[in-house]
Amino acid sequence: MSLRPTVDFLLHDWLNVASLQQRERFADHSRETFDAVLDTCERIAREKYAPFNRLVDTDEPKFDGEKVILPQATHDACKAYAESGMLSAAQDYDIGGMQLPYTVEAAANAFFAMASVSIGSGMLTTGNANLLMAHGSDLQKKVFALNEFNGRFSGTMCLSEPQAGSSLSDVATRAVPDGADFQNDPLGPRYRLRGNKMWISAGEHELTENIIHLVLAKIPDANGQLVPGVKGISLFIVPKKLVDMKGQLTGERNDVALAGLNHKCGWRGTTNTLLNFGEGKYPVSSTGSGRAVSGAIGYLVGQPGEGLKCMFHMMNEARIGVGMAATMLGMAGYYASLDYAKNRPQGRPMTAAGKNPASSQVRIIEHADIKRMLLAQKSYSEGALALALYCARLVDEQHTGTPDAADEARLLLEVLTPIVKSFPSEWCLEANSLAIQIHGGYGYTRDFPVEQYWRDNRLNMIHEGTHGIQAMDLLGRKVLMENGQGLKLLAARMQATIAKVSPEWQAEARQLADALQQVGAATQAAWQGAEPAQALANAVPYLQAFGHTVIAWIWLDVAQSAASDAPANVGRRAAARYFFRYELPKIGAWLQVVSSRDSTCADVPEDAF
Ligand SMILES: Cc1cc2nc3c(=O)[nH]c(=O)nc-3n(C[C@H](O)[C@H](O)[C@H](O)COP(=O)(O)OP(=O)(O)OC[C@H]3O[C@@H](n4cnc5c(N)ncnc54)[C@H](O)[C@@H]3O)c2cc1C
Repeated sequence: MSLRPTVDFLLHDWLNVASLQQRERFADHSRETFDAVLDTCERIAREKYAPFNRLVDTDEPKFDGEKVILPQATHDACKAYAESGMLSAAQDYDIGGMQLPYTVEAAANAFFAMASVSIGSGMLTTGNANLLMAHGSDLQKKVFALNEFNGRFSGTMCLSEPQAGSSLSDVATRAVPDGADFQNDPLGPRYRLRGNKMWISAGEHELTENIIHLVLAKIPDANGQLVPGVKGISLFIVPKKLVDMKGQLTGERNDVALAGLNHKCGWRGTTNTLLNFGEGKYPVSSTGSGRAVSGAIGYLVGQPGEGLKCMFHMMNEARIGVGMAATMLGMAGYYASLDYAKNRPQGRPMTAAGKNPASSQVRIIEHADIKRMLLAQKSYSEGALALALYCARLVDEQHTGTPDAADEARLLLEVLTPIVKSFPSEWCLEANSLAIQIHGGYGYTRDFPVEQYWRDNRLNMIHEGTHGIQAMDLLGRKVLMENGQGLKLLAARMQATIAKVSPEWQAEARQLADALQQVGAATQAAWQGAEPAQALANAVPYLQAFGHTVIAWIWLDVAQSAASDAPANVGRRAAARYFFRYELPKIGAWLQVVSSRDSTCADVPEDAF
């Protein structure tokens, strides 16, 4: 069972990505160039990632007091990835990129996520560098971003602190100007940072020459006080090792120290760190000469107080990436359990012949309940993959479409980003649970890969905005913003699908129209004369209903491109029907508590637990 036919189908038969070559930016591309990128990534993932997925789980990162040690396989995989050019795939030709559409880049990266999500495919590094390309100065782009795209340096995002996770307004890392001439550093206004950053992925390792931390910190006011709230947050480049204006290491280490590695449930191939900034472990001089003192050197990106706005540039990309990672773990579990179900003999059919205990056992794929669990996994994972690629296509539209089309894509992405992150995080995790169930007791052992997929996937509802935070973002902001225009646009896209379905899908089309009407009514009812605390008390059930409605729409649309009798298309239509019959009806219960603003949860007193 291979992922490639599914990716090809979605990219070409459904999304028609080859048509992007009509745009000036992609004029040199064609189906052949897209295929070549996918071929390369599929091969590297097969050779350098998949064989080591268990190794990176069991051979966790270790700190020897000086360096973090990772398996050689991780070094080899990351080197092969950087050499493939994928870190700069979407960038302009003149800085060494391929001007590849983001849709194809996202599809190509899916192979790595499925082969070994925690070895990783540079998502943090490209996200970090992309942010600098959007908000950095020319020299910051040249010195930091370009060296991330070419694989010399890697990147992190340092938002969270021990006391500030979901609530970033409580960030307490301080940044103070470094000397009287702090404004004059060519790399950007120079500050000294002091504080602790928790949960930082890829925060310490020897995979690259340098690590470029993008750090949120607050600049104290004239009285030395930190400005409360998100408005006080600024963004800084804090390299692990200091560099000169040409991007060469000066030989001086910055004052960023590893306080410890976190020992995770899954996703163990990536280091996760508590970093101390500016505690004095590595005193550093301000200009590479003079007296060395404590405080991590950081260069301001953009304007003071606009740090979170800049960081959101990276977080939106990261959220599509997280959704894709969750999706590919779902796919990996689906393929593993499908293979197992085709080979495991157990039980007999519920027919007269099956009553004979001397008859042979059947393979478990012949049981209806096993097929139910396979179809559930397929509908969650392939539906989520289609949505992720649809969103990636919107990113291309935002960057290369006409002004009106680009603006429409931007608004659609605003509404769909919480879904593309959270639907796979919840339901492809459920898919992994079903993959374990199909394996029976064997699935609960480490002799089969499915338990690792579940552990790896369990992260995705937590990082990049927890499930609860995504839900509040959707109901509290995204469906309301710009007079609800994003929601209206999404509804129009769904109506367009409903209008074009073939006769055999009319019942599902009516069902989707009804679901859409229910979501719209619940959105209004939730906010009708309500305080935010009441409206948002059931934001997660709203997110679940919204996500299921979106995936139903995606499946209905995909099914229109899957009309032939080829087995793969029969499978796609079965998954679509499964989703409409077994999944979409769930939204009624979810939306009921939203519309009635049910306060069962909100009202229960703490001492009643
Ligand atoms: C493996 C891993 C990798 C990570 N990588 C990075 C990284 O590279 N960079 C980085 O900056 N961070 C990273 N994080 C941090 C991650 O983004 C945070 O864990 C996340 O934002 C949640 O913060 P927290 O853990 O402090 O939980 P909390 O914010 O304390 O949340 C605990 C629970 O309370 C809920 N909650 C919180 N506030 C509210 C509210 N107002 N209303 C309702 N419910 C609420 C949450 O939904 C959650 O269920 C990583 C985390 C992990 C586990």
